[in-house]
Amino acid sequence: MKRFFTSLAAGAALLGLAAQAGAQGYPERPITVVVPFSAGGPTDTVTRLIAEAMSKDLGQQIVVENVGGAGGTLGAGRVADAEPDGYTLLLHHIGMATSATLYRKLAYDTLNAFEYVGLVTEVPMTILARKDFEPTDMKGLIDYVKANKDKVTVANAGIGAASHLCGMLFMSALETPLVTVPYKGTGPAMTDLLGGQVDIMCDQTTNTTKQIQAGTVKAYAVTSPARLDVLPDLPTAEEAGLAGFQVGIWHGVYAPKGTPSEITERLSKSLQLALKDENVMARFAELGTEPSSQEDATPAALKAKLENEIDRWKPVIDAAGQYAD
Ligand code: ASP
Repeated sequence: MKRFFTSLAAGAALLGLAAQAGAQGYPERPITVVVPFSAGGPTDTVTRLIAEAMSKDLGQQIVVENVGGAGGTLGAGRVADAEPDGYTLLLHHIGMATSATLYRKLAYDTLNAFEYVGLVTEVPMTILARKDFEPTDMKGLIDYVKANKDKVTVANAGIGAASHLCGMLFMSALETPLVTVPYKGTGPAMTDLLGGQVDIMCDQTTNTTKQIQAGTVKAYAVTSPARLDVLPDLPTAEEAGLAGFQVGIWHGVYAPKGTPSEITERLSKSLQLALKDENVMARFAELGTEPSSQEDATPAALKAKLENEIDRWKPVIDAAGQYAD
């Protein structure tokens, strides 16, 4: 029996060594980071900026792979199933927390399928419509939507997406269910909004600031507590008459469960550097967002955020009572 335990201990030590050896010299080849939405959307934009800066520090290319569909859960599932070797990562947002409640069945166990690298940014959302949509302000939008609830269409990136959450909060605030049109990301949803094929959308400023500034969409409000420097004329949702309507879309980097902590720590250091990168800071500011703090760009901070946010959104989602199978 004793021998069995000794060899078990030796085996465990060997495994530990193997994990360390896996971390030594990391990364030795390109890393893939999965964006669980289409190319050209807000999550994709944030990821490409961060990936470029992190690859400078890591000395390896970071390839962005867009795995859109099912509100971000397909891409998250793809990373949950990947080898835990540090060569497949996930950059996902608040949807990681909301989908844990929204989906009756997920292909992965949100709190047990991932290791954590750190928080990246928290992005406000904007409530928008196609350029020629009749209402000119939030009050007009609310009246119009209530009077035309069967014909107004709302774009989102599927159940579990940030645009879904924001749309759900909007419909709950108005006590008016609307027809939703799901896309694989709000990149293609924006294309349809610009083309007039869909009426309204709530999406991150990382996808909407340029369009709002150019006047190619009609914007009604931003979901941050205060107005944004880049969109000074856009009222907050609160100012526009939606009391308590605030939502910030936090983003984090994850790795599959079992990825050695030496690797997630190494990635976290690299993420911290990326968040201080001049190009990242300048582009984030132009897009109406800011990098997370250095303390938040850590595995412990992301883990705590995810756990808290699952608890925070569960009662809201349960009250809305819309789940996905
Ligand atoms: N972040 C967007 C959403 O959750 C989707 C995307 O990034 O394309 O709606």
